[in-house]
Amino acid sequence: MTTPESTSTSRTELAPDTIVVETGRPVRVDGASVNPPIDLSSTFISAGDIENSPYAYARFDTPAWSPFEEALAQLEHASLPGLVFGSGLAAISAAISLVPAGGTLIIPKHSYQGALASAEQIAQRQGFDFVTVDIADTEAVIAALDSAGSADGTTTSAGDGTSVSGTGMLWIESPTNPMLEVADVPALIAAAKDRGFLVAVDNTFATPLLQTPLDLGADVVVHSVTKYLAGHSDVVLGAVLTSSPELREQLHTERSMRGGIAGPFEVWLALRGLRTLAVRLDRAQTNAQAIAERLAAHPAVVETRYPGLPNDPGHARASAQMNGFGAIIAFTVDTAEKATAIAEAVRLWTPATSLGGVESLIERRRRHAAEPETVPEGLIRLSVGIENLEDLWADLEAALG
Ligand SMILES: *Cc1c(COP(=O)(O)O)cnc(C)c1O
Repeated sequence: MTTPESTSTSRTELAPDTIVVETGRPVRVDGASVNPPIDLSSTFISAGDIENSPYAYARFDTPAWSPFEEALAQLEHASLPGLVFGSGLAAISAAISLVPAGGTLIIPKHSYQGALASAEQIAQRQGFDFVTVDIADTEAVIAALDSAGSADGTTTSAGDGTSVSGTGMLWIESPTNPMLEVADVPALIAAAKDRGFLVAVDNTFATPLLQTPLDLGADVVVHSVTKYLAGHSDVVLGAVLTSSPELREQLHTERSMRGGIAGPFEVWLALRGLRTLAVRLDRAQTNAQAIAERLAAHPAVVETRYPGLPNDPGHARASAQMNGFGAIIAFTVDTAEKATAIAEAVRLWTPATSLGGVESLIERRRRHAAEPETVPEGLIRLSVGIENLEDLWADLEAALG
């Protein structure tokens, strides 16, 4: 199967906030649609050699996905089209399946809990080691890489510079969900690549507008498109990006063979949502910065984690490696009961899981039985939306009181 041809001219020189608006459009000819149509075909005309047909059957590739896959590749600086998946977790599972039997997956102990649970299961079935680390502790992660690498020691290098490893994979999530720990992303990628590990980065919280890990040498970037990229809490989708033809082929096979693919309408909605990513994120970050500062000064709040706060443990790193601090805040009150009461008392904020939509969400994370016990009982995660700041603060302040 050949890779679908891009309908876009080269525009690598454009800024990301322009790219989100103008990428993934149909070819400019008189009478053409301004937006890509929703292509519902399950099969495509392919006389003769099916391998050379850009589209043949919609479980493999479809024009319903291509504009969005091209848009994500441009944003994440991938040289190959992205791969859309039916959910963020499907994208994560596909990426984790790249870990070779006998190798090691090193993953943050405060990764998205679904990623941790999925990784542990895949590790057992596929026969690789599963090691959790404090991703903010660079020395500890490097020590884990060293001990995993020395246990196996077989590393080879592919011709294109990406590593094909018997050693394993370093999984990076930064900032983490929900603890907001910031990893030293450039240092960790460099250390892992030196030791022959593949590197995958869950870039859901940051979005490609705030960091582009492929530029730093990561092999794979994954997204829960459900969150900021789609941005309206109306689709569940995921994506994987890579510039390695070999890895893309493996991930593509994984998608085609597992078969839990994305629907055309969901992908169309995601591209529609992506158009406003830059303005949504801009507004949400401005709101988040102000709310984090006010929370940090509030007597009912024990701790506020937001990388935009000057005294946050992740502030220096985030300032150095990100173009902004995102719009997720974690704060703790002293008991689970107080946290639950706050989430029940709000009227404008929506008590719901998930994040990254235009509407502000609030959640006590430990209400999920699967959340790691190292996440404090009184921790509340805020996904700050794009409403008026003073309305958001008035509602939250009343609930805190
Ligand atoms: C939500 C989320 C996921 C899972 O994505 P789904 O689209 O819900 O499957 C993975 N990683 C992070 C950081 C998330 O926030």
